[in-house]
Amino acid sequence: MCMIKITNLNFNYKSKQLFNGLNMEIEKGKITSIIGPNGSGKSTLVKILIGLYNYNGTIKINDILLLKDNIKEIRKSIGVVFTNPDNQFVAETVMDDIAFTLENMNYKKENIRKKIEEVTKYLGIYDILEYNPHDLNSNQKQLVSLASALVHDPKILILDEALTMLDPFDKEKILNILKELNSKGLTILNISHDIEDTLISDKIYVLDKGKIVLSGTKDEVYKEEDLLHNLGFELPFMVELSNRLMFYDLIDHVIYDMEEMVDSLWK
Ligand code: ADP
Ligand code: MG
Repeated sequence: MCMIKITNLNFNYKSKQLFNGLNMEIEKGKITSIIGPNGSGKSTLVKILIGLYNYNGTIKINDILLLKDNIKEIRKSIGVVFTNPDNQFVAETVMDDIAFTLENMNYKKENIRKKIEEVTKYLGIYDILEYNPHDLNSNQKQLVSLASALVHDPKILILDEALTMLDPFDKEKILNILKELNSKGLTILNISHDIEDTLISDKIYVLDKGKIVLSGTKDEVYKEEDLLHNLGFELPFMVELSNRLMFYDLIDHVIYDMEEMVDSLWK
């Protein structure tokens, strides 16, 4: 079942063709990653998906055609987090900032309060509701953006390089939250130029100059080391490590999880 189905997408900036017959399927309930070098078209694709640009072709989101008339309906099913949360904050307090999404969707006042309480407690930011979002640290800022993206219970969460600014520790925390949300049924589209961020995905698309040059499961994609290298990507650390250990016959398949790796080496 598709959450997003893109068929024969054509799009250009003025005279510059970016997408020329792009097809892509984002499966319901799964984590899909799109990676690609800078300029490959990732953010443009996100902007098309949230209805900011006109396009040619067919895009269906949660079974609704992405057309001007349906944008409001479609936005209810999408939550988006961008790289730089500072550019997204619209209010003086975290509370008002998160409320903004719901006000736009005409939620009732008492409902707004309840939804904000729910999502901020879940993300561990309930105690900073009265703070100015600009005064927070980068992890808290990204959690506030995530709260705004999740507060209306979207069906799909889109992250456009949303983890880039975080240090490895905070990144790990947010990746774990994403995994948990996904296990509760949220579809996630995770866009990045850092291949480490793709470790949580069920499916990966590799984009270059507006074209899908590789797609598949993690195992299928990480096998194409040369192609990835040519685009400037190293293999994720755990894959690199697994490959070396397999060379010495110490393990017999790629192990993505460090604890599992330690266990199998002890055996
Ligand atoms: P990515 O997010 O993968 O880095 P983008 O979608 O931002 O890629 O950009 C894809 C291509 O489109 C790049 O060549 C970029 O220069 C071009 N581009 C992006 N935004 C605009 C714009 N507003 N006007 C013209 N060209 C743009
Ligand atoms: Mg981008």
